[in-house]
Amino acid sequence: MAETKKIAVIAGDGIGPEVVAEAEKIIRRTEEVFGYSFTTEHALFGGIAIDEKGTPLPEETLQVCKSADAVLLGAVGGPKWDNNSKELRPETGLLGIRKELGLFSNLRPAVVFDCLKDASTLKPEVLEGTDLMVVRELTGGIYFGEKFRREGAGGEEAVDTCAYSTAEVERIVHQAFEIAQKRRKKLASVDKANVLETSRLWRETVNRIAPQYPDVELEHVLVDNCAMQLLRRPSSFDVIVTENMFGDILSDEAAMLTGSIGMLSSASMGEGAFGLYEPVHGSAPDIAGQGLANPIATILSVALMYRLTFGYEDAADAIERAVAEVLDEGHRTADIAVDKSKALSTTEMGDLIAAAIR
Ligand code: NAD
Repeated sequence: MAETKKIAVIAGDGIGPEVVAEAEKIIRRTEEVFGYSFTTEHALFGGIAIDEKGTPLPEETLQVCKSADAVLLGAVGGPKWDNNSKELRPETGLLGIRKELGLFSNLRPAVVFDCLKDASTLKPEVLEGTDLMVVRELTGGIYFGEKFRREGAGGEEAVDTCAYSTAEVERIVHQAFEIAQKRRKKLASVDKANVLETSRLWRETVNRIAPQYPDVELEHVLVDNCAMQLLRRPSSFDVIVTENMFGDILSDEAAMLTGSIGMLSSASMGEGAFGLYEPVHGSAPDIAGQGLANPIATILSVALMYRLTFGYEDAADAIERAVAEVLDEGHRTADIAVDKSKALSTTEMGDLIAAAIR
């Protein structure tokens, strides 16, 4: 019997509890099939925590997360809290939890399932074989630099500062090389080194670290070129590592290659193996409580957790194979179904995927 691992489970708002329930079904199924052992502890976060505890990120929730090996998160937010003051908004809780848990990178896989190639706006032959991961720096750069307004000769001026330290670049670049080593051993470092000083430091740091990973093929790509190449030759990318704002934009662009928001998983990592895993989508208030949500993004987030935090490659592979198999058989939730009248509910999709794990 494997050592028992602890997963903090935060269902959140809207469709969060619906998709997380299916992910937990998958966790239980992998215990049966592979003999792994997990304890799960639920905690309040987001809008529901504001309603019940008066804050989006209660101290108890933070403690549950800190005492766990990994966190599984559904989604937070909704119209009910949209007009709240900043400290009483679910999104403020998201920034808080990342900071408190020391999560400095965001990993977003973009995999095109063969049977869903038609759901993308790109031509199927361009998408063929696309399986990439964007590693985005999450806590530095222009989003967190000093910002201010001042009076200038031409009227009011606004200033946002972009800053990166060598240490900030090093830790994420090491992480990206290590991820590339476990995949197809190709790393694209994306910057704007022809213009930005922070990008020049980024590139120098990448070049200094690269000799420690001789098995990984490195290319430097300027961000504007990367935006084009993602549409032209997406399958040629394996791992892309980049700073915060470039990563924000490129990870959304890469996400759209796959065609459906209900299929996209993500991980936020700190030092070591601890990670927070969540679907890319939000709480989808328009479909919440109707059994219409696609649980695959959250289920694939469990596969990512098994791979990156626990090193349970066999179970991660089995989950991904089960998802592909169920889709190949033609099963669809409404968001990806051509014939909506035949669409499965959230729980039906979860049941089929769980049963396909062997
Ligand atoms: P959203 O991702 O919730 O929904 C966008 C569209 O995609 C909607 O039409 C929705 O029905 C659909 N969709 C999303 N996930 C789906 C799924 N699993 N299955 C089927 N359809 C799905 O984005 P939004 O509408 O811009 O935001 C809604 C709320 O979610 C807002 O309060 C926002 O702040 C919050 N949000 C939270 C997170 C997070 O928790 N990390 C991320 C993004 C948005």
